[in-house]
Order: sequence, then structure tokens, then C-alpha cells
Amino acid sequence: MSSSVTPANDRRAVASPHTPVRLPVLAIVVPCYNEQEVLPETTKRLCQLLSELVKGGRIDGSSRVWLIDDGSRDRTWQLIDLAAAQPDSRISGIKLSRNRGHQIALLAGLLTAQGEVLISVDADLQDDLNVIPKMLDEFSRGHDIVYGVRQSRETDTFFKRLSAEGYYRLLQRLGVEVVFNHADYRLMSRRAVEALRKFPESNLFLRGLVPQLGFPTTTVAYDRAERYAGESKYPLGKMLALAWQGVTSFSALPLRAITALGVTVSMLSLAMGIWALGIRLFSDHAVPGWASIVIPLFLISGVQLLSLGIIGEYLAKIFIETKRRPLFFIERLVGGGASGEGE
Ligand code: UDP
Ligand code: MG
Repeated sequence: MSSSVTPANDRRAVASPHTPVRLPVLAIVVPCYNEQEVLPETTKRLCQLLSELVKGGRIDGSSRVWLIDDGSRDRTWQLIDLAAAQPDSRISGIKLSRNRGHQIALLAGLLTAQGEVLISVDADLQDDLNVIPKMLDEFSRGHDIVYGVRQSRETDTFFKRLSAEGYYRLLQRLGVEVVFNHADYRLMSRRAVEALRKFPESNLFLRGLVPQLGFPTTTVAYDRAERYAGESKYPLGKMLALAWQGVTSFSALPLRAITALGVTVSMLSLAMGIWALGIRLFSDHAVPGWASIVIPLFLISGVQLLSLGIIGEYLAKIFIETKRRPLFFIERLVGGGASGEGE
């Protein structure tokens, strides 16, 4: 990195009789997709929190909440627009030109918002906002990335808990570096976000990408609440897609497993061949059964299909990455602090 690197302790607000206190500007980044039911409450609570932090001398007065409308079909954008237009509003709105999914919406927010500290949080108030001051404490101690980690999953269904924790374990086994029980509730310093900007990937899985950045990192624990209102915008299909993304974007192990599988199956068929030959040579009633021909045939074609499928998955990824398509377009930007109209 170049000379623009800020030494970790430089960011601390230093109060001395001679130098004025310079507080960090905080940006709270919230992706929103069809969130009209929760949005008024979310903006109210986030603005309240900002005011308290500003009053408490923790952050600069120009800190803002950045709401990203991910191509919602309900009144989400109207609500954001309205909130941003209020006098003394601490809300900025970013409207994406269409729905691009949570990960891209979040990245759009992180790459557009201004400030020295950025905290990403879901719109549905499931992540406990009370740990934001703790995250800021860790930031001022010199940490560039602070992960919010779920302490309990009491509000999750049995299935969700089992599948989510099993998934984190699977990722770790596959050699994908992820923080156990961390979703996308995290603090990032400006320099960490600038590092993230340099990743040109289209197959976004931020939970796997952020640990790749390095920098001083820590975690804070919190309890995840139930959705404040509205329904989950992450149905099973989308969740599975994200899980698959996490595996195939970060691990080549499935690809390698094919080789092992291929070797095993070939050895087995070889043994089977020897066995059939033995019966033919050393016994009288050797009626070569069709099973010894048909079973290996089936087995091998199955394995071939599976292998082709997995190779295809990786090829598809290469195909998409090589296009270098822009990830998102900003249709509108509202609210003070926004640097311009559109992109
Ligand atoms: N979200 C989004 N685009 C989408 C789907 C979801 O921006 O296509 C946002 C959503 O508004 C919320 C966050 O992503 O702020 C997490 O979604 P949700 O709470 O529905 O997921 P869950 O907590 O059920 O996994
Ligand atoms: Mg949620």
C-alpha cells in the first residue's frame, strides 16, 4: 500500500489542550429490499443512536446513515427519499437501478458512503445496535475490522441453527477463512474499505472476502433478535445460493475431490474386473452376470456426470469473472454528504 496508509493510532481522537479534537465520521450502511414495514423504525433508531454518539463525543457531527434501496418494489425508496429530505436529516439514500441482491447492495453502500468508519447492518433490526459503541471502542483501540458475532441463536428455528452452524464448519473444513457465526454486521475502517474496493470479483461473498484483507481485526458478541417486522428477504433458495457461492468462490477443494473420486472408482472397477475374471477362470458355473458390466457402467457415468457438473460450475465462474461487468449502477443519490447525482 502507498503512503496514504494511516497508522492505526492516528485515528484516535486526541484531546490535548493545544490540538482540537478530531472525531471520526461514522457511516452506517444499510441495504434495504422491500423493507417498508421496518424502515421507519430502523431510521428512527439509527438516527437516535447517531445523535447519542455525537452528543457523547464519540463521532463527528457529520456522521450519517446510508440507506441503499436494492431495487425494491414497495415504498422503500419513497420512504428513504422522504427521510433524507427532512431538515437536519442524518439520512443519505442510494437507489440502485435494480435488485442486485444483498451482497452487491451492501458493497455499493460501502464503496459509496463517506466517512472514516463504516458499519454495515441489516434493515430489519435483527442485529443488536447496542454493540455499535463497543465496535467503536475496538476501532479506537486500533482495530480496522470488527466482526459482530452471534452469541446465541435462540430466536432461530432448529433447522436454521443446524444448517447455519453446519455450513460455517463445512467452510472451515474446505479451507475457506470465515468468522464463525458472523453474518454481515461489521465495522470497517476507511483503509479496509479501500482495500476491499481493489477486489474485482463479481461472485461476491463478503464474509469470505473481508478476512482476506488482513489488518488488525477483532470480534464483539451480540444476541440476534427476531426480525422487527416484515418477512425475511432471504428465502431458502437465496440462502442456498449464497452458501454455494461461499464454497465455489473460495475453495478449489470440490474440484480436487473429483480426482480422488475418479481414482477410487477406477480402482474399484479394476478389482471388480479381476474378481469376475477369477470366477470365469477358476469355477465351472461362471455365468458372467450382467451386474458386473452394468453396475460399473452406471457408476462411472454417474461419476462422470458429477465431475462435469462441478467443472462446469467453476467454468461458469471464470466466464462471469472475465466479463468484468460493472456490479451496480446508482440511479439516484439523495441527502447531504452524498457526493453527486448517479454514477
Ligand atoms: N436485502 C437486500 N437485497 C436482497 C435481499 C435482502 O438488500 O435482494 C437486504 C434486506 O433488506 C436486509 C438484509 O439484506 O436488510 C438481510 O435480509 P433478511 O433480513 O431478509 O435476511 P435474513 O436475516 O432473513 O437472513
Ligand atoms: Mg434479517
